[in-house]
Amino acid sequence: MNVMQETKLINPQAPGVLHSESFGHGGLIVTKLDDLLNWSRLSSMFPMTFGLACCAIEFMSTGSTPYDMDRFGMAPRSSPRQADVMIIAGTVVYKMADRIRRLYEQMAEPRYVISMGSCANCGGPYWQHGYHVVKGVDKIIPVDVYVPGCPPRPEALIGGILKLHEKISGESILSRP
Ligand code: SF4
Repeated sequence: MNVMQETKLINPQAPGVLHSESFGHGGLIVTKLDDLLNWSRLSSMFPMTFGLACCAIEFMSTGSTPYDMDRFGMAPRSSPRQADVMIIAGTVVYKMADRIRRLYEQMAEPRYVISMGSCANCGGPYWQHGYHVVKGVDKIIPVDVYVPGCPPRPEALIGGILKLHEKISGESILSRP
């Protein structure tokens, strides 16, 4: 193979990551530290495995073969200490609010939250008379992406995941609190 032969690839999920590679005698990658960290972070996000109500069924569908959540590097974890993204899929009742907050605090930083469906976004069908329902999970933990729908289809959740990728792509270790 020609020593001078070179390929340059731009990762569509992290446009700032320039992958420059020379064949024959080793390789070379040139990028910014922020882009490298963001790209590795968004390519291997581990969601917490739990669901609160009917939206969780669509969350489970998103992990099934036709939608293949694994292709985004997402492997559900059953421990908050191994997870870095929490998908709130379902109705948040007051009895669950403390538990959700505690699980969120046990996740390693940087950690992210996707609010999936009307119930998690704003109380959904219970927004007016649901005395037992928290009117939006953002009242107890910070939310990065809201996915609308009752329930959102797997395609919508995937759209939310890609929105979160966009958000992570723009982060910097210098601006992180
Ligand atoms: S948003 Fe609709 S589908 Fe999702 S948990 Fe609430 S009632 Fe169920």
